[in-house]
Amino acid sequence: MTGNKNGAARTGDKTGKYLENCTGALDQALDEVPAYRAWRQFDRGKGAPIDERYAGLPALTKRDMNIHTPAAFIPPGRSLAEGLKSGEIELVETSGTTEDKVINVWYQSWWNASELASWTLNAHAARVTTGDQREAILANPLNVGFRSERGDLPMEKRRLERFLFLNDLADPMAWTDSYCDRMLRELELFQPVTLEANPSLLSRLCRYILRTGKRAYQPSLIVLTYEYPSFIHRRHMAVVFDAPIMSSYGSTESGYVFSECEHGRFHQNVDYCRVDFLPFRDDCGGPDLGKLLVTTFDNPWRSLIRFDVGDLGRLNPGPCRCGRTAGMTLSLIEGRTVNLTVTPEGTPVTQARVDQGLSDVSRIDDYELRQKDESSYRLRIVCDTGFDPATAAQARDILREIYGPQARISVEEARDLAPGPSGKFQMVQALFPLNPASFLDPRFQPPVPGDSAAEEGL
Ligand SMILES: [Zn+2]
Repeated sequence: MTGNKNGAARTGDKTGKYLENCTGALDQALDEVPAYRAWRQFDRGKGAPIDERYAGLPALTKRDMNIHTPAAFIPPGRSLAEGLKSGEIELVETSGTTEDKVINVWYQSWWNASELASWTLNAHAARVTTGDQREAILANPLNVGFRSERGDLPMEKRRLERFLFLNDLADPMAWTDSYCDRMLRELELFQPVTLEANPSLLSRLCRYILRTGKRAYQPSLIVLTYEYPSFIHRRHMAVVFDAPIMSSYGSTESGYVFSECEHGRFHQNVDYCRVDFLPFRDDCGGPDLGKLLVTTFDNPWRSLIRFDVGDLGRLNPGPCRCGRTAGMTLSLIEGRTVNLTVTPEGTPVTQARVDQGLSDVSRIDDYELRQKDESSYRLRIVCDTGFDPATAAQARDILREIYGPQARISVEEARDLAPGPSGKFQMVQALFPLNPASFLDPRFQPPVPGDSAAEEGL
């Protein structure tokens, strides 16, 4: 976070190796990678401080990634065709809406190395992970794993190397009691060291366990990924499992970017990425709240500079109790920009803000909030122990506190909630377009290639 006199302190220690990686990644991209040719005009020059050079550059969006071919992001000396032919890499399309879909050059070795480094950022993960530990994965098969229409793939058909994929149904609303029992049985049989889970799906399994009084096999560590981890979902897990829970943050494009440490803060995976923080305006929740841009290091098959992952983070106000000081420390991942809503006055509200508020209502087991227009909000809640007016009133009061007196809030009971078409739940969403760029502190607004005002430095 350059341009702010406290920037260096706020974004953590940066060692020589880190600065070297930042410089190497940027010089290579600007000098040699075709996709960044139009960015050269924005570079403040090799003599300028590295943070300032980064701060002057555009952000790489998924749209940019679709304008260029995957080959345009490959550093020199490698051929996409040859890499595909030899099997060193493959092309993987991320799930999402048409606009969000990106074809990624997938290089497994780099991904594994990035994951291994991310485990050192949590004491529990560092203790139990080896890189070849047995791991059960509870995810939507639309995102990862094996899919079947009826959810009847036998266990051996859902094994891959050290992994067992517990779920083969794309629609979690189709889980029956016997399907949940199958997962519990397989956990017992497989005895995973780590359970990696989409938080809403693991919450669903935990609620079944709580409802039936059954017991679950206890892994040594639970790793949450794929989705924003709701405090409500984590509450279910904490009742069912003794294992520590770690949230792991990254994306298909960027690898592992932040890991939650044993004290609940998020530390940057500094050996594999740089993070640029674009603070929101003071009247929009900044400067501690902001957007995250990720630059990756040493992936020989893809140069990724200031990639807009579409997520928001909150800077930790001071050093973390765990003692890790390298790179940026976040107190929270605040959710995606597509999950922002606004108050009737137009102030942005993050998913985390809504989630923290509603997690105070102990009877809510799941929810979905939709903002229909600038001042109307519809909350649907699932209560396993029964919906009652007092719970609805409590939830309404919390939302009124968040959105203010002008907000029109309805609260209804829902029997169950379905994921979006990508297989991920959208717990909070505005049903009309917002422009998250307008919430950014203008001093940190990235220029847009082709924008003549920016090019002329105006
Ligand atoms: Zn920490």
